[in-house]
Order: sequence, then C-alpha cells, then structure tokens
Amino acid sequence: MKFICDEMLGSMAKWLRILGYDTKYVKNMKDEEIAKIAREEERILLTRDKKLASKFKNSIYLENNGLKNQLRRIIKELALEIDDKNLLTRCIICNEKIEKIDKEKVKGMVPEHVYESHEEFYICPKCKRIYWIGTHFKNMKKFIESIKL
Ligand SMILES: [Zn+2]
Repeated sequence: MKFICDEMLGSMAKWLRILGYDTKYVKNMKDEEIAKIAREEERILLTRDKKLASKFKNSIYLENNGLKNQLRRIIKELALEIDDKNLLTRCIICNEKIEKIDKEKVKGMVPEHVYESHEEFYICPKCKRIYWIGTHFKNMKKFIESIKL
C-alpha cells in the first residue's frame, strides 16, 4: 500500500514513512496533478481538502483532529498492519529505503557518544542521512503503541 499526502499533511507523511509505507508528500501542486500521480503510481490519496477527496475515488479525507486520530482513522479504514520489523526502514525526509552501513563508515558522521553506544547504523542512499536505533526511535515506538490503543 502506497500513499500520497497533500501539503497539509506533512507530519502524516513522516509518520507513514516511519511505519515503513512508501509515501509521497507534495507541495504547491494543483489538484489534477496530485490526482494524476496518485492514479499513475497507484497511491492512496490522503488529503485535508474535501473537494480534492471528492474528485478522486481512491482517497481519504482527513479532518483536522490531530495526528493521532488521523493515523488511527487510516489504520482502521485500510486495516493497516503495524509491523515492528517495518519500522524505520525508510528515510523520513525523502522516502527512500534506508540501507545498512558498516559502523566504521559512520565514524565522524554521528555524535561520538552515539557512535560509541550503537552497533547498527543505516544510511539513506539519497540524502545520506544516518539512522540508528536510539532514544528517538524508542519514543517513536511509544507513540505508535499509543495509536494502537
Ligand atoms: Zn533521505
């Protein structure tokens, strides 16, 4: 399942990527263009725009009721399965799949204390951002657990 989020839904796009879903985030784009990408790439369109949602069948209109409720709604409506092994498999900035990288190679690219206390690192092939399973990731997991409730 793949998604496209309109510009009102930046944090939604980020969270869908954290959950491992291929999610495009578009800005300054006409409705027709967004619908075209959604159709061609078979993406479910998530939008805060009722008009846009009504024009495009494979879409979900989201109310402005907070990220948690919006995520719950999508998870319920699409029966999404939140699988821990999919978490943090995608760059949250550019949506690319991240790849494992040897620890030695990230020396100097991450804070020293992070380097010393972690063994596994990942890199985004596009923006070269380095990822590791740290405190930040644990907080993400907590948030995800709270959505499931
Ligand atoms: Zn990236």
